[in-house]
Amino acid sequence: MSKRGLLIIYTGPSGCGKGTVMAKFLPKNPETRMSVSCTTRAPRQGEIDGVHYFYITREKFEAMIAENAFLEYAEYAGNYYGTPKAWVDEQLEQGNNVVLEIEVQGALNVMKQRPDALSVFLLPPCWEELERRLRGRGTEAEEVILRRLEAAKWELQQKDHYRFQLINDDVDETVAALERLIEDEKSKIN
Ligand code: 5GP
Repeated sequence: MSKRGLLIIYTGPSGCGKGTVMAKFLPKNPETRMSVSCTTRAPRQGEIDGVHYFYITREKFEAMIAENAFLEYAEYAGNYYGTPKAWVDEQLEQGNNVVLEIEVQGALNVMKQRPDALSVFLLPPCWEELERRLRGRGTEAEEVILRRLEAAKWELQQKDHYRFQLINDDVDETVAALERLIEDEKSKIN
């Protein structure tokens, strides 16, 4: 019987509500941890180094690429984002599930390396809602919002590569659906 945790690849375009769903899901599911990524983007107001991301320079990021320290990384809207590999494997070995909340390109890369992972693509209820949520954050400049919307067009076309697609209309329902998917997958493994 396998005691290894489940790797959960969790993706979707910026503004589809990935973070909001996780903020409700994680406190209810302590056996599931979220990986903290490295990024070269600047912290937003209220973000904490080591909690939301490890904020590092491009030089440091590129050194980590050379050391093969990332499970995956991608360049997205002008910045690097990457998942440090060692922590993820340590958690899985300890039996904890690990969520990678990452953008679509990086998610596709992890799926190739870890075909046993559970992959979930989160969709906004419609395009207008995605745009409204991105603008509603009020944290990004117009130019950044436009880059993210541009990326979202391609990202949405990739949804069929993922094993499950969830439409994030009601956050509580999305959290419940995610819990069911994880439970089903765990019972299959064990
Ligand atoms: P944000 O700048 O809004 O925090 O993140 C932008 C996008 O990068 C989001 O879709 C987020 O899920 C994704 N992201 C965060 N961390 C990583 C990572 O380690 N790798 C990849 N590929 N994407 C990430």
